[in-house]
Amino acid sequence: MGWLGLDDTDHLGGGCTTWTMQHLISSLPTGTGVVGDPCLVRLYPMTEARTRGNAALAVELNVDLPAPAWHAWLEQHWREHLAELRGLWTPSTHASRTQVPSDPGMVWFDSKPPPEFYRMAVTGEVRVDEAPLATWSAGGRGIIGATAAVAWPQEVSTWEGIAWRQRHDGPRRLDDAVLGRLDDDRRLVACRDPRKGRSLLAPRGASPILFGLRGTERFAVQQGVQDLLKAEGTEQAAAWCIFQTNQGSGDHLLPAVEAVVEDVHILRGGHVALDTTEGTWLAFAPSDDLRRLAAELVAGDVVQGLGLVSHEEGRKGLHLEALNHVSGPDRNKMRPLCPTCNIRMKSSGRNQGLRCPSCPHQDIDRWVGTPVAPSGWVQPPLDRRRHLMPDLRESRANRLINGADSPASS
Ligand SMILES: [Zn+2]
Repeated sequence: MGWLGLDDTDHLGGGCTTWTMQHLISSLPTGTGVVGDPCLVRLYPMTEARTRGNAALAVELNVDLPAPAWHAWLEQHWREHLAELRGLWTPSTHASRTQVPSDPGMVWFDSKPPPEFYRMAVTGEVRVDEAPLATWSAGGRGIIGATAAVAWPQEVSTWEGIAWRQRHDGPRRLDDAVLGRLDDDRRLVACRDPRKGRSLLAPRGASPILFGLRGTERFAVQQGVQDLLKAEGTEQAAAWCIFQTNQGSGDHLLPAVEAVVEDVHILRGGHVALDTTEGTWLAFAPSDDLRRLAAELVAGDVVQGLGLVSHEEGRKGLHLEALNHVSGPDRNKMRPLCPTCNIRMKSSGRNQGLRCPSCPHQDIDRWVGTPVAPSGWVQPPLDRRRHLMPDLRESRANRLINGADSPASS
């Protein structure tokens, strides 16, 4: 038994690490077998060297071969199927690593490394020399993600069923009736964007992926994939596989931070910057409802935020992935109405109290307003959320929003 990890092969002219893994699994030699589902593991979303979703792959294998024969097979597979694509990337040299657009890595561990390395790689930037040493490895920077994927402890899991195309050109065809049915299944992540009627399952552009169906229950995902694939309106797929994933785990985030708003700035492009007692918080325009909520805040509001801190020049601060308006000063402050005439009262002058314009009624100088209704957690629309971000209405998000009862994480 052991674990194989793979990462950073998805620059390949529209290639994809999931397909590379699928191909590897389908070419495994006699005397080996896959244990459980392969794992699709998303890592630190802000890493400098990220490809689209910063996903790495891992699979547990039962290997009934002498170690030298197995290592020789790994070596050969690497050379024939990953190295043959060289020329699309420069082989790694430590000095030039950051300039290299992609730098695949493949690792083999006889036993699963401890989860600490996964935690480092999902919450921040890590170097290749910080990774636990594999039994066998090849490649460059991709070794980081490959090792982190192998080290993922699988504590909070969801599933994604991926189908790959036979032809990689032309528009994707998915059966609309089945998509509609899957869209109503609460165990699956929405299949269609209600705002645009567009399928959220299929990537756009040149990718070997036909669709990816995500969900919180493995059985529902598998059933959905099979229903979609055998439907008449769906194009013929090359292959499909169910992956166990850390998507929706929230593993990239620390528990929510509470702060008091000091000032609100609307930036060019509609982004909103909040000066808070906990530093700058940023709500970007595409985050839609979240951005709208941020723009309506005023000094004195108590808010809670979830997100990742960026140190990038011009975008420094907490990049909000969820925002909760807890309390704050009353809104729409006005003078009270006269109880008799139902007309708004007026000030009689400094320290003179209020008077009704049409009767002798007087009142002390005061304002009435609408108390803040707590917003609850507001998140960007589904297609603008990070893969790692859970729906905060789900119980697996409790660790993030009630900090205190977080499950043991080591
Ligand atoms: Zn009156």
